[in-house]
Amino acid sequence: MSVDGHLSFVITDGFIYTNHDNQILEDHALVVEDNIILDICSKNQAMKKYPDFNQLDAGGKLIMPGWINAHTHFYSAFGRGLLLNAIPQNFPDILKQLWWKLDRALDEEGIYYSALTGAVSAIKHGVTAVIDHHASPNAIEGSLDHIQKALDQAGLKGILCYEVTDRNGKEQAKRGLEENRRFISLRHGQIKNSGLNAVQGMVGLHASFTLKDDTLDAASDLAKSLGTGCHFHLAEDKADQWQIPDQLSSTERMHQHGILGGKSLAIHGIHLREEDMDLLAETRTMMVHNPRSNMNNGVGRAPVERILSKGITMGIGTDGMSQDILQDLHAAFLLLRHGKSDPRLGWKETQKMGLECNAAIFNRLTGQNTGVLRPGAAADMVLSDYQSPAPLTGQNFWTHILYGFSSLKTDTVIIDGRIVMEKGRLVHVDEDEIFSKARECAGKTWQRFSELK
Ligand SMILES: [Zn+2]
Repeated sequence: MSVDGHLSFVITDGFIYTNHDNQILEDHALVVEDNIILDICSKNQAMKKYPDFNQLDAGGKLIMPGWINAHTHFYSAFGRGLLLNAIPQNFPDILKQLWWKLDRALDEEGIYYSALTGAVSAIKHGVTAVIDHHASPNAIEGSLDHIQKALDQAGLKGILCYEVTDRNGKEQAKRGLEENRRFISLRHGQIKNSGLNAVQGMVGLHASFTLKDDTLDAASDLAKSLGTGCHFHLAEDKADQWQIPDQLSSTERMHQHGILGGKSLAIHGIHLREEDMDLLAETRTMMVHNPRSNMNNGVGRAPVERILSKGITMGIGTDGMSQDILQDLHAAFLLLRHGKSDPRLGWKETQKMGLECNAAIFNRLTGQNTGVLRPGAAADMVLSDYQSPAPLTGQNFWTHILYGFSSLKTDTVIIDGRIVMEKGRLVHVDEDEIFSKARECAGKTWQRFSELK
C-alpha cells in the first residue's frame, strides 16, 4: 500500500478505534484530505463519494490516533550505554554526574543526531507528537533549530523549548531565555506565513532549585508576551519541594513568580502537598507523569490519583527513558496498583492520561485538534498489526492496551496526512545511516564528557 507524500486518500479494510464514544468501526473507511480527516463513512459510501482519491488498504490492521509523548528529552539519547566512574548516591548526584555533564558535552551535531534518532524511535513506537525539553549549555544559540530540522525530516510533530537554568551562571540563563524567545518568535512568523505548524515552541525552565528569582520573572514575562507558557520540572525530588523549609514550597514559589497558568506544563509533582495540588488546579496548570524515570531515579511515586481527582489535566511522558510511551503507560498502571496496594487503581487513570490528557495538553498548547479520529481532526494516526487471542471491542480497548501492548506492532504512521512510516520503516529518512552516524557522534560526545569535571 503506497500513497505518495501528502495526498488525498481513503483508508479501507481496517478496524478504526476513534477514541470517542468507545467505538471500534469495522467495514468503514477513513478519508484523508491534505492534513485533516475529511470523512469516516462506510467503505461503499467512500468508494462512491471519493472516486478520485487514492486507496490505502489497511489489510485488517488496527487504526487509531497516534500516541503523544507529553514530556521527553531527546538530548538523553547518548546517555544509553554511558558508564559513570562512580554510582550516583542520590537524585542531585545523578544530575551532577550524568545529565549536567552530558548536556555540556553536546555540540550542534550531537543535538541534531540525538533528536533525529529520537524522532525515528518515537515514530516507530506509534508516536505522532512529542513535547521536548532541551539543554546544551555549550551550544545554546540555534539549538532548537537543529531539533526542529530533525523532527521535520522524520515528519514528527512537536513542541520544543530550551531549559533555562542559573546553575551555569547568569549569562547562560539569559542566553537560554533568548533562545526560547528567538525560536518561538521565528515559529510564530513561519506558521503565520506558511500555515505549517508541525513544530512550535514554549519557554523551558529547569526546576525551582536551580533558578533565581529574576530569571523566573523574566521567563514569566517572556511567556506572557509570546502568548505561551512555561515547561518545567516540579517537585521531582525532595531537593526541589521546599524553597524555604516548611515555609515556601516550589509550587508556591513558581506561582509567586507567575510561572503557573493554563498554558504551563509542570513535570513530575512527586512530593506535592494537597495545597500545592490545589494551587496547580486553581491556575489550570497542566502536569505530566513519568513513571519509569521516577522509578529509575528512585525519587518516589507521583500521587497521580489525587492529582487527577482535583481535575488537573495530567498527561504521561517518558522523560527521555526511551521514546516508547506505551512502556510508561504500562509502568504507570502497575505502579498505581503496587504503590497503593490497591487493584482498583490504574485502569481509568492511565486511560485518561494516555488517551485524553496528552492530546488535551498538546491541543491546548498548539491550537491543533489531534488525538481523535473524526472529521475535521488532524490526520495523525497509526496502523498496527495486533494479534489477540480474545475479541477487541470499543468497551475493552484499554485492557487490550494494558495487557496486550507488546503484541501491538506499528506498521504505518501518518502525521498531518503524510505517510512517514510504512511497513515498519521510515519513509523520508534512512534509518540505518542515521543510527550509524549517531553512534559516531556519541563516541565524540562521550570523549568530551570524560574530559569534563
Ligand atoms: Zn524531564
